[in-house]
This record gives sequence, C-alpha cells and structure tokens, in this order.
Amino acid sequence: MATTQTKPKTPAKQAAAKSGAATGSQKEPKTLHDLLEEALKDIYSAEMQLTEALPLMAKACESEDLQDAFTNHLQQTKRHAERLEKVFNRLGIDKSEIETCKAMQGLIAEAKKIMEEFEESPVRDSALIIAAQKVEHYEIASYGSICELCDVLGHRKTGELLGRTLDEEEETDELLTDIAQEINDEACDMSEGQGEEEEEDEDET
Ligand code: FE
Ligand code: FE
Repeated sequence: MATTQTKPKTPAKQAAAKSGAATGSQKEPKTLHDLLEEALKDIYSAEMQLTEALPLMAKACESEDLQDAFTNHLQQTKRHAERLEKVFNRLGIDKSEIETCKAMQGLIAEAKKIMEEFEESPVRDSALIIAAQKVEHYEIASYGSICELCDVLGHRKTGELLGRTLDEEEETDELLTDIAQEINDEACDMSEGQGEEEEEDEDET
C-alpha cells in the first residue's frame, strides 16, 4: 500500500506559513501600534476634508445659530488637525502617505446632496443637522477607539490631548441636538398640511 510521507513542519516554517510567507505575501502581522497609526491617519484625512466642507455647510444654512455652530466647529476642526500633526511628530508617523478617508468622503457627499436638492429653509437646516451629526458620530467613534488604543499602548499624553478633541466632538453633537429642537419645530410648521394624515396609534410588536 502506498503511503504519503509528509515531513513535519519546523517551528520556523510554521511561523512563516502563518504570516503569509508560504503564499508569497511576506506580510508582517499587524500590531496594535499599526492599528493606532492607521486610525490616526484616517481621522486626519477626515478632519482635513471637514475643513473644506464646513464653510459650505455654514453658508447653506438659514438659521444663524446653526451657522455659528458650523463656523465655530470649523475653528475647532482646524485645531483637531493641528493636534493630530503634533501626535504624528511625537510618535514618528509619516503623514505624507495618507489615504483619503472614504467614510468621511461619503458623509460629506450626503451633505452636498442636501445642499443641491433642498431649497434654503428650516427643512434644509434640519437635513444639514442630520448630516453633521453623522459626521460627529463618526469622529466620536474614531477618537473613542484611538483614546482606548493610546491607553492600552501607554501613550498617556497623546490620549489626553486627543481626549480633549473627543470632548469637543461630543459637545458639538449635543449642541446640534439642542439647535435641532427649535429648527425641527419650524420645519414641522412649514410642512403642516403637506404630508400624510397623522398616524393612528396602534400596538406595534
Ligand atoms: Fe474634529
Ligand atoms: Fe467634529
């Protein structure tokens, strides 16, 4: 009877196979530091895109409060990008190779679509608030996980600095919620009589 003889793999070969060397990809396994670096570059691209989008959003809104909120957040956004540049220097990260953050590109495309499709009105302002809050929530998720990674990796000062940015993103989100309450009432008055009849209460499962 024919037997198939396979030599047991040496530990070195097993490690090489695991890391992808056996398939020719020669990739080093990614580390938590790589994850942090990628997250920092991603959010830097996001902040840079926002410095261009926020002035357009401020110009497009009718409410002065909303306009002020976007304009003030533009100043904060510029500071957020500067803080990230400080972090790149501190951690020796090369920022010349930064890919465009596709998520932020998509969120900004949504905001631009609103500016094209809605007339200037409280309804457009409501739509812009929704678009802006999606942006803030992306930033909150990003900075939240970056701060966690800084904590785990022992980058205490970086975590504190970017924690300040996280606070500002959260405050902006809350401010937008406050402004939305007033604007949505106005938008609702405008839309009255145009929509469907009021929903009847019924039990939902
Ligand atoms: Fe920001
Ligand atoms: Fe923000």
